Parts: sequence; C-alpha cells; structure tokens
Amino acid sequence: MSEALQARIAEVRRRVEDACRRSGRAPDSVNIIAVTKYVSLERTKEAVDSGLIHVGENRWQDAKDKWEAIGAQGQGVWHFIGHLQTNKVKDVVGKFQYFHSLDRLSLAAELQKKAARLDLIVPCFVQVNVSGEDTKYGLPPAELQSFLRELNQLPNIEVIGLMTMAPHEEDPELTRPVFRELRRLRDAANAASVYRRAVPHLSMGMSNDFEIAIEEGATWIRLGSVLVGKDE
Ligand SMILES: *Cc1c(COP(=O)(O)O)cnc(C)c1O
Repeated sequence: MSEALQARIAEVRRRVEDACRRSGRAPDSVNIIAVTKYVSLERTKEAVDSGLIHVGENRWQDAKDKWEAIGAQGQGVWHFIGHLQTNKVKDVVGKFQYFHSLDRLSLAAELQKKAARLDLIVPCFVQVNVSGEDTKYGLPPAELQSFLRELNQLPNIEVIGLMTMAPHEEDPELTRPVFRELRRLRDAANAASVYRRAVPHLSMGMSNDFEIAIEEGATWIRLGSVLVGKDE
C-alpha cells in the first residue's frame, strides 16, 4: 500500500477533525467519500484497501470497470455523485448504493421504477443549485419543497439529504454562504414537514472547500484530488 496515500488519508482526517473541533462537532458526524473519477482502477483498489469504504464516481461509463472489479466483489459502498441521465438509471441502480444528484421528477420516476423492480430502497440526496450558476445541475432552491412533496409518492426512494456544489473559488471562505444556504433549506424543509420524514444529511464540500462545508454542517464530503490524487 502506498505511503503517499496513507499520508494523504492521515492529513485529510486531521483537517476534518480540526474543522469539527472548531465547529463543536463530533468527527464521526462527517463521512468521507473518496472520489475516484480522476484515478485508475489500481489506485481505486488501493483506496478501498486503505479503508476508504465510500467511493464516489460521476459517470457510469468511467466507473464501470472499477465497479465490476471492486464493487461486484462486495467491496466499497458506491456513491453516484454526477449528473445522472435517465437512460443510465438501469445501469447503476442495484450497483451504486447512494445517489447524490436527484434533481428532477423524470429521474425520480425512473429510479422508483427500477428500484421497485429490484425490491430496493434507494437513499438519495436532492441536488440543489444554490449558487444559481447556469453551468451547475440541480433544482432551483425555490422548487425544493414542492419537489420533496412530490417525492412522498415514491416509496422506493428515500431522501436522506440535500447536495450542492459551490462555485470554485480561490479563497474557499467565499463558498461559505452557499453551504450555509443549503443547511437553511434543509432546516426549513424539515420545519415545514414537507417530506415524510426528517431529512438529516448535507452532502457538500470538495477538495478546495471541505473545511468550510464542515463548519457549515456537512455530513458527507466528497474528496477527489486532495485525498486519492489525480493520475497524469
Ligand atoms: C469531481 C467531483 C468531486 C471531487 O472533486 P475534487 O475537487 O477533486 O475533490 C466532488 N463532487 C462531485 C459532484 C464531483 O463531480
């Protein structure tokens, strides 16, 4: 197992703990997803063998070989974090355990259909485009509560959280309002009881801004380059 990877994991864990300490949170309230989209099958295997149980990929075409070599052997918990085309749902439900990019009813309907056929409950995050950048996928914040109400009709989908991506900023401090707003949206939806149960999680924070996201309440952070690196 490479020492470089071990050192990076230790360093990230230390930074997560420091951010938790600053914000009065328990370190085990933050779950780390190793985003392996930039690295080879070998490096992905190494990451899972090093104890990074949660693996994130954002395209089925790129994840397929890795999933077949690792996930199909019962290793890793697989998170689909990228934009999901409706016609790809059949490839990924039953393989990936978590979906972070639920952002439209047509996708929800397809997930429901496939999950029901496999007799699975699929945990999902609703992706919200908090920053309003038109390059970002996700639901406009104003539509979140009505979307959650509609999802009550779909018994095989279990919404467990909200997800967002902040714009890339040189100064990560500038991402704070985006993360704070996602937390506010979650709390408001819970206070209004629009969904059949309270939605606890926030999937937010990437390599550049995860400490800020933790300070603002992230319970899942998605780390690529800072954690598993990037192949040339
Ligand atoms: C690529 C990706 C990440 C990880 O990016 P890094 O900046 O390398 O940490 C996280 N979330 C999503 C949705 C991604 O596509």
